[in-house]
Amino acid sequence: KLEEDANGVDSASSRISFQNESKWDDHSSYGAKKTQQAWCRLSNGNWALGKVLSTSGSESVLSTSEGRVLKVSTESLLPANPEILNGVDDLMQLSYLHEPSVLYNLQYRYDQDIIYTKAGPVLVAINPFKKVRLYGNDFIEGYKRQKMDKPHVYAIADAAIREMKRDEVNQSIIISGESGAGKTETAKIAMQYLASLGGGSGIEYEILQTNPILEAFGNAKTARNNNSSRFGKLIEIHFGATGRISGAAIQTFLLEKSRVVQCADGERSYHIFYQLCAGAPRSLREKLNLRKAEFYKYLNQSSCRSIAGVDDSEMFLAVMEAMNVVHISKEDQDTVFAMLAAVLWLGNISFKVIDNENHITVVSDEGAQTVAKLLGCTFDSLNMALSTRKMTVRNEKIVQKLALEQAMDTRDALAKSIYASLFEWIVEQINMSLGAGKRRTGRSISILDIYGFESFTRNSFEQFCINYANERLQQHFNRHLFKLEQEEYIEDGIDWAKVDFEDNQDCLNLFEKKPLGLLSLLDEESTFPNATDLTFATKLKQHLDSNPCFKGERGKAFTVSHYAGEVMYNTTGFLEKNRDLLHVDLIQLLASCTCNLPQIFAAKMLVQSDDYPSGPARLSGADSQKLSVATKFKGQLFQLMQRLESTTPHFIRCIKPNSLQQPGIYGQELVLSQLKCCGVLEVVRISRSGYPTRMTHQKFARRYGFLLLESVASQDPLSVSVAILQQFNILPDMYQVGYTKLFFRTGQIGLLEDTRNRTL
Ligand code: ADP
Ligand code: MG
Repeated sequence: KLEEDANGVDSASSRISFQNESKWDDHSSYGAKKTQQAWCRLSNGNWALGKVLSTSGSESVLSTSEGRVLKVSTESLLPANPEILNGVDDLMQLSYLHEPSVLYNLQYRYDQDIIYTKAGPVLVAINPFKKVRLYGNDFIEGYKRQKMDKPHVYAIADAAIREMKRDEVNQSIIISGESGAGKTETAKIAMQYLASLGGGSGIEYEILQTNPILEAFGNAKTARNNNSSRFGKLIEIHFGATGRISGAAIQTFLLEKSRVVQCADGERSYHIFYQLCAGAPRSLREKLNLRKAEFYKYLNQSSCRSIAGVDDSEMFLAVMEAMNVVHISKEDQDTVFAMLAAVLWLGNISFKVIDNENHITVVSDEGAQTVAKLLGCTFDSLNMALSTRKMTVRNEKIVQKLALEQAMDTRDALAKSIYASLFEWIVEQINMSLGAGKRRTGRSISILDIYGFESFTRNSFEQFCINYANERLQQHFNRHLFKLEQEEYIEDGIDWAKVDFEDNQDCLNLFEKKPLGLLSLLDEESTFPNATDLTFATKLKQHLDSNPCFKGERGKAFTVSHYAGEVMYNTTGFLEKNRDLLHVDLIQLLASCTCNLPQIFAAKMLVQSDDYPSGPARLSGADSQKLSVATKFKGQLFQLMQRLESTTPHFIRCIKPNSLQQPGIYGQELVLSQLKCCGVLEVVRISRSGYPTRMTHQKFARRYGFLLLESVASQDPLSVSVAILQQFNILPDMYQVGYTKLFFRTGQIGLLEDTRNRTL
């Protein structure tokens, strides 16, 4: 079980790089022979398949399938798989397992729009960036009736349902991949399959309708994905005793707040803003004094305001309809839209410098007046909250005037806070409608759609948190697939060459160790009023430089060796983003507003402020010291991991074949780096060498015993099991008998299951 402090959670710490090529099957003794097919690496890094025309010692001549003739070193050649293995469903079936064979197999399928491939127990999904004919009722029915058996998200969802029922254990479908790899679409496809089980009273439809709402409020166009989720999501779908859907609960993680007030050129803020501006009906436009998107500063700082092929006004109608479905009342919807308009108008508030110390006052123009009207406060109180700050200095309360920069930050903090609270509130409303709080008796299947590992030229606090989360998830993946696997073999006395697996405990320790880990040091520095991003960076270097996963860099930067590669973080903004303080002046302003906002958000808005400690506590009766963002995130993550630990996981790894979001382009380097990052290659190697299918003697005897043609003298499960194995002629190489379980190589149980299904 996970503990608060990672210290001692796991002692194993063997760090082996995925890049380590020696982990492949050993092909060094492979001497290419004339007329054989072989792979060679081209100067551009890509692999090419060709026929060996001649070999003379260390040199070979190869004619590639594109008609080129190349002279290569014989040693560098890798054996090609026989043609009969072209495009196999499961990478485990490949006779020769190496980089080019895996890449080629996936590409061979991808070229035929077969985007799903198994890698042992993991499903690999390659984003087609176009409509593929793989979904819909016919396919759902096919998988439900087990008429279809090709790798598919539906097959994974179906397996989850079956295992939930069979083992009476909760299940999880864990989807990972880079931004734009197809995680969110995959999650929706899985949800679609689960929803097809139905639930009565339209609950399944409600569950599906949460998607357009959450995407409108939590997704945005980025450089990598036109519909990029800027939050993590876990949806837990509950099943009643009859196996039908009884409800659901959604948990979200770490919404990217900064996007509300700024985004890079070519990107957009959250979809809902553009949808509101484009699609609000006339009466709403008038009520909220709405303009076109380009009128608003928060939206016009980027030149991009529309997305090819997307009609924002149509989307707005869809979102409103979806809100109706999840029982958000018209009145609440109006409040939501008014708050969105208030955020937009906040961005248009301007300041006038009133003295030579750069102090300011809010200009009483249309922007400020509209904000005041929408929030339900006076212009004066808005002005006060944005241009001054109450402080306690030597036990004396004073009012400090704000300078222009501070005032703009305060305004932006207010906008971000309103938006983030709005998002949380919507999730709460959805959960109420889905019956998330109700006592549950049945089982559940959770789907996790969470941002993958990120490594940009410039990495900030957001990447820091995201990559930390990915280390945790990677550990879960490792643990499950490798460690549990090994332990089970050993426990059951199976003779199985020990396979070392990637362990990222060192990196997790770097983050989580107390008091000298990245998170602790960040929190500590965040509490010092005089700390800066530079002092934080210096502190890290001071305490962590001896850690092999850490490297101090010049200035405000540091590098972490993640399981997926090195990432350099720049500490600019770390402290402020981690503190995420809302000054008491803003809290008081919001509490005094006559719009529905204070009631809806009261509890969340009230946070402890360092400057004015007595204020917020009195306002709300709120008890606790506000947690830092990193600590809160860590808490959420631990909770998530604990929840996942109690489920049977199913992993889907999404792969982005190109960075252009275009169909038909398959970049070998890009695909390979993702396969390495998410451990797919490792999984195939290990699964192939082991016995992935296992069953207790009892279960095996019970499940297939009735297929026996002759009665067995002894009725004990082991004897029955052995008799079954003999009757079905399962070869000794293909299984091992453990103390409690039978272990099978891949594909062995298939025949038994087929016969069983035909007989039943
Ligand atoms: P992620 O959540 O991993 O960032 P998305 O799920 O948003 O990525 O996918 C990005 C885009 O790729 C989608 O908007 C869609 O256009 C396309 N896409 C992803 N998966 C599929 C699929 N199975 N079929 C068709 N298009 C897809
Ligand atoms: Mg997404």
